[in-house]
Amino acid sequence: MKDWNLVCTGCGAVLPVADARPRCAVCGEPLEVEGVSRGTVREGNRFGQTIFDRYADFLPFSPDDPPAGMREGFTPLVGSEKIAGELPVGSLDLKDESRNPTWSFKDRGTASAVRHALALGFKRIGTLSSGNMAASVAAYGARAGLPAIILVSASIPVEKLNPIAVYHPVLLRVEGDYGDLYFRSLEIGSREGIYFMNSDVPFRVEGSKTIAYEICEQLGFNAPDFVVVPTSSGGNLRGIIKGFEDFYRCGLIGRLPRFICAQAKGCSPIFNAFTSGEERVRPLEKTDTIAHAIENPFPPSGNEVLRQLRERNGIALAVTDDEILSAQGRLAGAGVFCQPAAAVPLAAVRRLCADGVIGKNDHVVCIVTGGGLKYTAVLDRLGFDVRTCRAGELEELLGE
Ligand SMILES: *Cc1c(COP(=O)(O)O)cnc(C)c1O
Ligand SMILES: [Zn+2]
Repeated sequence: MKDWNLVCTGCGAVLPVADARPRCAVCGEPLEVEGVSRGTVREGNRFGQTIFDRYADFLPFSPDDPPAGMREGFTPLVGSEKIAGELPVGSLDLKDESRNPTWSFKDRGTASAVRHALALGFKRIGTLSSGNMAASVAAYGARAGLPAIILVSASIPVEKLNPIAVYHPVLLRVEGDYGDLYFRSLEIGSREGIYFMNSDVPFRVEGSKTIAYEICEQLGFNAPDFVVVPTSSGGNLRGIIKGFEDFYRCGLIGRLPRFICAQAKGCSPIFNAFTSGEERVRPLEKTDTIAHAIENPFPPSGNEVLRQLRERNGIALAVTDDEILSAQGRLAGAGVFCQPAAAVPLAAVRRLCADGVIGKNDHVVCIVTGGGLKYTAVLDRLGFDVRTCRAGELEELLGE
């Protein structure tokens, strides 16, 4: 590891990066790796590089740290003139994170956290999730030869369990409060030597920074006007903001975009606190949305996201399940099939266009966080029109 520090996002306390503690012992808020103020993107053939190679100046790893990962990242930025044409926006780009090894952006943070775990000599890794993060950690554990302890909720349906189980992790269905389990798993992990890489731990945030670096490169180092991120724990949004900030501080981009924290109305603790002017996010008793990947009732990085949004003129908003379904259908109509949570940014953009916040000259980037095959049950709600015919009728039916 480089000789960098972990800094508390709440009180500024400082620890070395060679520490696996994710949260501040003084104030309880998340720790993060200190920002970067000097660095350049490594030139060279991208086919021969990993995200760790290309962005080595901006990440806390040394070249002699054990390698990790399986070529996550370097996802395409797909423009959609069609969707942009329907909205009063200048242009719209989709950062398609479904092109990662386990079909979501989680792989970036998992790769980074696994590399940290290996560098510190951990023999086991773990996480708490019933969806994308569970699959990602199970896959990367298998890849690295590290037993992966995956805690899922006792009520998880089989169709979600099997795509995690297929990687042969230690899979435990746990009864009890999920919010509490986040903290409990971190504590048990630190006592038992298991590196729990939960949603917003510092090295997950480091992985998410690379989304921002790639967008800057893909846009020729011109920052967009808005970046829209579907937000649950807040780890990914924090990483993306941090990534743009690094490049800005290093003089690689000339300005920062405005960041939009997009949540589902059925689970919007950050939006609630943002609009009511509160400093701290309050846990929700009940949640209800089709966007399960962003259904965290008590986001562990919620307070930090609030601070960031307020400091940087950011925006938080919440969209309904109907708006989410409609956006998911529209994206598929443009060739991009994502899961409901990943369609939340487009739903948010539509609303912000209607409200006049985003205007006709603005360049917008939506983070499409995960692929559509993860959750096919929801598709029944889109109501497709499929006809049946006999083979002999085909010609007549298709003739013009
Ligand atoms: C995890 C996840 C999110 C939310 O990311 P956070 O870092 O928890 O805010 C959004 N979309 C998808 C598809 C996810 O898997
Ligand atoms: Zn602190």
